[in-house]
Amino acid sequence: MARLASVSVDLDSLGCYAAIHGLAPRVAPALDADPIFRLAVPRLLALLEEAGLRATLFVVGQDLLASPWVRRLLEEAARRGHELGNHSHTHPYNLRTLAPGRRQEEIAAAGEAISAAQGRPVAGFRTPGYNLDASLLQEVARQGYRYDSSLLPCPPYYAAKAAVMAARWAQGEPSRSQLTRLETLRTPLGPYRAALGAPWRRARQAEASLPELPMAVLPGLRFPLIGTSLHLVGARGFRALGPLLDRTHPSFFQLELHAIDLLGAEDAGVPAAFAARQPDLRVPWAAKEALWRAVFAALQARRRVVTLERAAEILFAS
Ligand SMILES: [Zn+2]
Repeated sequence: MARLASVSVDLDSLGCYAAIHGLAPRVAPALDADPIFRLAVPRLLALLEEAGLRATLFVVGQDLLASPWVRRLLEEAARRGHELGNHSHTHPYNLRTLAPGRRQEEIAAAGEAISAAQGRPVAGFRTPGYNLDASLLQEVARQGYRYDSSLLPCPPYYAAKAAVMAARWAQGEPSRSQLTRLETLRTPLGPYRAALGAPWRRARQAEASLPELPMAVLPGLRFPLIGTSLHLVGARGFRALGPLLDRTHPSFFQLELHAIDLLGAEDAGVPAAFAARQPDLRVPWAAKEALWRAVFAALQARRRVVTLERAAEILFAS
């Protein structure tokens, strides 16, 4: 079987980052002026076009309704062959703990807006902040989605947590609550049929399941290979990892970016308060452009790059 790869990009507006960093919502630009949609997404589409790649763009539903500019931009992306996926309607980081009715509405409203923009039903779902649980996955399956792609088998903060754990352990005060985090390490690295009752493990035979396409981490330490961390690895480092990734991710490798990975602090419309809190914004766009161009080329040199929807069709054909 051909080795597959997918590039997925979460189109979180700067308003989402204001929420993460505890900034007042008014610090973020209005959606129509947001450099995420004015600069980052057009840059992404140009780079993908140049590389001849088709990607999966995870869209926050309300953004399509709030801005005709955003809607036209994403309709155009769909026309060029990119897939639009459901990234919830309002991007609540606590989606999984919302009341069942609101959770259902978050997925359904976004599904409706994104299907209309794409001109066909949405196939895939990604929860905000990698924050998935059984009840959320069950709702995704109930609404007819064909795959989920919400799990980063190593949350980016895992290394920091592990360092704290090691320090506590060394002090003779091991934290039991943190030990449960090690469960995450048992999540399969590659695509698998996730049990609806326990999304982090493979479904047993006859158990209800949904295809899960996890984001890429390195085996062992499970260092995440996503946009933010690739700034550290660099293009040469990514190319050097190719043979290892062929062994550890033989059937499928997913590179996850966020649209903010295509912005620099110097870009018009990026508030200074964001650059102070989001260190990777300090890498200028010129450096990022060179990085993504090289990474996309390296990925394509080793693998067949398809949308997540297509990957799910190929990998889970029964
Ligand atoms: Zn997001």
